[in-house]
Amino acid sequence: MIALIDCNNFFVSCERLFRPELQNKPVVVLSSNDGCAIARSNEVKALKIPMGAPAFKYKQVFEKHNIVKFSGNFELYGNISRRITEILTGITPLIEIYSVDESFVDLSELSLSDYKQWGAAVRQAILEWVGIPVSVGIAPSKTLAKVAIHKAKKDLRAKGVCVLGQDSTKNQGVLTSVPITDVWGVGRRFAPKLKAEGIHTALGLSQLAPKYAQQLMGIQGRQMVAELNGEICHPVRQQTQIAKSISRTRTFGQDITDQNTLRSAVADFATRASFTLRSSNQLAKKASLFVATNRFKANYTYRTAEIVFNTPTNDTGHIISQLCMQIEKTVPPGFPCHRAGVLLHELCPLALQTDLFNEMPPKLFSKSQNRMRSIDNINQKFGKDKVMFASRKLGDAWSPKKNNQSPRYLTRWSELPKIKPV
Ligand SMILES: [Mg+2]
Repeated sequence: MIALIDCNNFFVSCERLFRPELQNKPVVVLSSNDGCAIARSNEVKALKIPMGAPAFKYKQVFEKHNIVKFSGNFELYGNISRRITEILTGITPLIEIYSVDESFVDLSELSLSDYKQWGAAVRQAILEWVGIPVSVGIAPSKTLAKVAIHKAKKDLRAKGVCVLGQDSTKNQGVLTSVPITDVWGVGRRFAPKLKAEGIHTALGLSQLAPKYAQQLMGIQGRQMVAELNGEICHPVRQQTQIAKSISRTRTFGQDITDQNTLRSAVADFATRASFTLRSSNQLAKKASLFVATNRFKANYTYRTAEIVFNTPTNDTGHIISQLCMQIEKTVPPGFPCHRAGVLLHELCPLALQTDLFNEMPPKLFSKSQNRMRSIDNINQKFGKDKVMFASRKLGDAWSPKKNNQSPRYLTRWSELPKIKPV
């Protein structure tokens, strides 16, 4: 059996954790630059405000219903997410972190007798120890666990836990209640095809002949039908695979035409990407730069540049300086940059790989490694960005607007809640 643990309205729940007075009040969390709704409380969902609702378009609706807005505080959400993962890995190491608020857990080695009771206990533990409400769906396959979570969330009688078994006739009631668009893997691509075939619920899909499902949707279709009938096609995968590439990109709130501001943004992306690279004990053989104008405006255009390092590196300073040189070469003056990104790719394990011309003697390589380690240690001990490369400070007009961001309560000493004596 596989359990899916899914946090309820995760970003909203994280905000409410430190603002308990917002319980039962309408709350939205907005994407970067406060663009659109990326998390909604149940009260907001009841007002029929859709996911992705653009904030400027819904300004009056937000005001009318006293909806509390937050700018996405991803540092906070990431920290809370890790706490939940720690609880789950304490139960079993067979866990797949599917997204920031969802994890699959393989229950096969736990020899549980009562799944419903186990689900309720996990739910209670996460609520008590972290403070986040979750739903639990338990079923023989991932796709069925997704169906179960649907029921756990929508049906109050389920009390946040739904268990589906191997017997498909017993699952029929729940399968009927899940619209085809909400079945895992169907998405916008296959939903119209299935609806055209008269299939409108998960039950309809589960009863489709596997061969016909394959004709309609390829092998994925056959797997969906099998999974809905309790057969495992997608086992729980532990994250042992190491990233093959690391990217950091951003869409800016306004077009950037000043090269120093662009340099500063690229330096920031490179800093964060190379930190991730070092955390996974890897080096990059290549780095790429990407800049583009607004694709919703006329004359959309973009530029890319690739750097091949003679010696693979994870040195932030070296990566920044190489990328900034590419900005001069590839981005024409006045280019209205709306989106930019940095990609580190062709990654390899951390070990000195000397090149033919010996550009990086071992002594220099270990010096670079030591320097990076010192920077990471200082930032770990005294707070993020305590020391940084100066190019990141060339201009900050690019940094996202976060007019309604809550304090990063769990990761910044300076943003701890203050208690006022009465
Ligand atoms: Mg969720």
